[in-house]
Amino acid sequence: MPNNTLELVSLTTLKGVGPSLERKFKQLGIHNLKDLLFHLPFRYEDRTKIIPINSLKLGDRVQVSGEIISNNIIFGRRRSLQCVLGDKTGFISLRFFHFSSAQRDSLAPGKFLCCYGDIRRGRKGFEIYHPEYREITNSDDILSESTLTPIYPTVDGIQQKRLRGFVRQGMELLGETYELIDLLPPKILRNYQLCGLIDAIKMLHNPPTCLDLETLNAGISPFQQRLAFEELLAHRLCMRKFRQIPDQKSAPSFKISKELNEQFLDQLPFELTNGQKLASEEIARDLTQVTPMLRLLQGDVGSGKTVVAALSSLQAINSDFQVALMAPTEILAEQHFHSFKQWFEPLGIEVGWLSGRLKGTKRKEALRKLGSGSYQILIGTHALFQKDVIYKKLGLIIIDEQHRFGVHQRLSLRNKANRSEIQPHQLVMTATPIPRTLAMSVYADLDSTVIAELPPGRVPVNTAIISSQRRNEIIKRIRSACVDGSQVYWVCTLIEESETLECEAAEATATNLVKYLEGINIGLIHGRMKVEEKNRIMTDFKSGKVQLLVATTVIEVGVDVPNASLMVIENAERLGLAQLHQLRGRVGRGSSQSHCILLYQSPLSRDSKIRLTVLRDSNDGFYIAEKDLELRGPGQVLGTNQAGLMSFKIADLQRDALLLEDVKTSSELLLKNHQNEVESLIRRWISDREEYVNV
Ligand code: ADP
Ligand code: MG
Repeated sequence: MPNNTLELVSLTTLKGVGPSLERKFKQLGIHNLKDLLFHLPFRYEDRTKIIPINSLKLGDRVQVSGEIISNNIIFGRRRSLQCVLGDKTGFISLRFFHFSSAQRDSLAPGKFLCCYGDIRRGRKGFEIYHPEYREITNSDDILSESTLTPIYPTVDGIQQKRLRGFVRQGMELLGETYELIDLLPPKILRNYQLCGLIDAIKMLHNPPTCLDLETLNAGISPFQQRLAFEELLAHRLCMRKFRQIPDQKSAPSFKISKELNEQFLDQLPFELTNGQKLASEEIARDLTQVTPMLRLLQGDVGSGKTVVAALSSLQAINSDFQVALMAPTEILAEQHFHSFKQWFEPLGIEVGWLSGRLKGTKRKEALRKLGSGSYQILIGTHALFQKDVIYKKLGLIIIDEQHRFGVHQRLSLRNKANRSEIQPHQLVMTATPIPRTLAMSVYADLDSTVIAELPPGRVPVNTAIISSQRRNEIIKRIRSACVDGSQVYWVCTLIEESETLECEAAEATATNLVKYLEGINIGLIHGRMKVEEKNRIMTDFKSGKVQLLVATTVIEVGVDVPNASLMVIENAERLGLAQLHQLRGRVGRGSSQSHCILLYQSPLSRDSKIRLTVLRDSNDGFYIAEKDLELRGPGQVLGTNQAGLMSFKIADLQRDALLLEDVKTSSELLLKNHQNEVESLIRRWISDREEYVNV
């Protein structure tokens, strides 16, 4: 039997599956027999035991059995059907909010039932809402289950019981007609003490009662771990393969010009920190090589990544190559544009600008200058990589991503940008530190540089969590800060993902604050404003003319006004930790003590409280990122959940972090000695791999 044939076996091979059911299976991502067998339970229940009613505990999820004593419709706030069930030890109510009259009739007093469900507290003793139940006509029926009961993810129209039946059929076919090949070489199985693939799958669909229910439900049984290992391995292999392709082309080698670097550094009002020096040296070394660089530059907000990017750019420009610097928002891109112009023009370097808003002749002119090589560095938003944007000689791509871009999106950029035989180097700057475990699995072989220190003299921001009911006090504080000559941000947060609403809220807040803060010069900035208008406000804020800047989260990234020392974030509970940390990084850039006030709308949920407390107690981006990961899970942290990327069927990056080191070693072994298995593993676990790598 050739490899992987299970993928070719249609679900309609199973008894009872026709075209309509096949469509339903598709909704679950199950397209063939292989998918069905890898569709694993997300939970298990023990229905092999019947629990006496008098020993039930609140919150248990258990099976009880007894005789129906009564059956009544209750007209309370919500109409419901209540059946009282009794065994030798006591009584419990079964409650149905949705029921038919046929169902009511079938639950007649005197019948015996076996029920399964969550034990809740009712008005008179315990209740189960909508239990799963079956009637018992013969005492042998009581314990029908001999294994733990798997509960699968499913959709409307495929009940658990039926799904279990199909899986059982599939497993039978597996033994008789089809073969599932274990793709992991024996050496790996041995080294890491992994069980065989078939054993794992069998056990997980049909776990004997001797297995520990808690271990299974936590996903850490050896059977689940074996599959998680294989899945992580497949993902890693996919990333590794993906990186191998661009690596076949070579990149230009850039010469370092000491003179140019010195000219640039001499005009800065500060000395580089050690962290900046080390990072720049590391990148500079990469750029002299013909192996395309793919490096992540991580540094907390305010650590001074921009200067490092400028030094790298100089190296490319010195060797007659062009640089593209992309930022996630127009405001940030503008800010970079101004900094680079200020730094580079005195050195005789031409800095270009491109954004989606640049239209008509201006755009044409920009594209012409880019094509002719007159622009030596081009700064802008993702417009830098649209189809009609053609570089004369692109040698370095720098992406200032903060945490806005998806991981994979970035990786594919340089392929898009690349129309020649030359592969540009790529530097990705991020202020959201990627926790080490994630970095290892997701970024595969992305090299990484960390700027571990902040410029000297920075005082950590003092953060307070305050209820919005104390708004008046806050307004007083704003006034006194402004009177003392410093500047203030007031941030309005996203309202239900709607940018328009957010802008409106900011407008309303600004109008409102004007009333209470007479004599203070208030500016407003949000995403819906024209670029010129935004620029004017930002310039006025920088020069100190605007004292209080009311803003939406657009200021989150990159805005740099060292004189701002107070930030108020309204409805801070709506934002994630990473975003809050970014925002807060806008203050504390000067040498005076800065403050950040997290205003919340009471009542504060438990989760929000934990989140805000983490932020109050720490200014360390790495610590905050680790906490974020703990609280939200990796998909959210990387922003890939929505795109459906990086979703694992079985593995869980956090839970299975310990596997990653072995996965890494194994992937190298496979790439070296088992090319066929590599392909098959990727195919088995990542069906849509084109999408995976080319978003
Ligand atoms: P980020 O890493 O968040 O992008 P920036 O590059 O915007 O940080 O730098 C933040 C601020 O720190 C800027 O005002 C920048 O001029 C300043 N800065 C950068 N490096 C140093 C340094 N070595 N010493 C003092 N200030 C610095
Ligand atoms: Mg920055």
